[in-house]
Amino acid sequence: MSIQISFEVFPPNSPDPSEFVASVGSLAAVGETVSVTYGASGSGRARSLTAIEALIDAGLGARVTAHITAAGQPRAEIDQFIDIALRGGVRKFLALRGDAPAAGPDEYGDPITLTRALLDAGAEDVSVACYPEGHPKAPSPEAEMDDLKAKLDAGASRAITQFFFDIDLYLGFRDRAESAGITKPIVPGLLPIRSLETLHRFAARCGASVPQWLDARFAGLEDDPETQHALSVATTVSLAERLIAEGCERLHLYTLNRTRDALTVARAIHHSSKEAV
Ligand code: FAD
Repeated sequence: MSIQISFEVFPPNSPDPSEFVASVGSLAAVGETVSVTYGASGSGRARSLTAIEALIDAGLGARVTAHITAAGQPRAEIDQFIDIALRGGVRKFLALRGDAPAAGPDEYGDPITLTRALLDAGAEDVSVACYPEGHPKAPSPEAEMDDLKAKLDAGASRAITQFFFDIDLYLGFRDRAESAGITKPIVPGLLPIRSLETLHRFAARCGASVPQWLDARFAGLEDDPETQHALSVATTVSLAERLIAEGCERLHLYTLNRTRDALTVARAIHHSSKEAV
């Protein structure tokens, strides 16, 4: 079975984008697309635009998925970002509400309006986000599922999940989505573990849980990056294999810009999915 992998990266801090461009090039050679995050603050937005422009200049526009957040962003700036991306050959986007800065304007406001605007402007492929463990601000799981269906009914092709480590949790969410009439793919998001401390920080921020077996597996490895790296790759590949066995044909890897780890994981997934045929 051929597995499609999207790699999520964030724009570099460095003013010289050459290393970032080279990394995206190597990820694009192995994956279906490289997904570039969008910063909701003014400086974050500028970094995202600079990163997308550098990738376009390097001829990678068609291999990129540009994230855009709607809430609290001036419409003119979002429209300018979309226009530059489309003119540079970017055809894929991830439409997000985002977490609005306190006092920003709210002209697109939500991911449904943004999805429609992207498709009207000429985007060929729009993804949206979803949360197997629930978004911390969602009023109820039922309301959240209705919102997800509305985003997909607005024309998005798939929903990409927040990271998770419990396969049953993902499968339960996918079943509930199907029961709610969602027929488009729910693409699992996998996070290779960098360190337990970073993982717990991310998980607390986005309402994801860290299972006890994962804590136990990585505990005590703070001063042993080699073993931590090997276990991280093995854990992510093993989760991917179980998801593929459950029928997932596409995976989203949160790379944290650790290109080498992401490439190792992706190559191992491609290798084992070929063996599974
Ligand atoms: P929604 O679909 O609107 O939210 C999901 C659910 O939570 C809905 O039910 C909605 O009603 C509820 N909800 C969310 N926010 C509120 C609110 N303020 N008030 C009431 N209800 C609310 N963030 C970035 O800034 N940049 C990125 O590049 C980025 N990439 C991401 C990629 C993926 C794959 C994922 C899963 C998330 C990403 N995020 C990113 C985080 C995302 O912007 C936040 O989780 C945001 O809070 C929700 O965005 P959404 O598009 O899922 O919104």
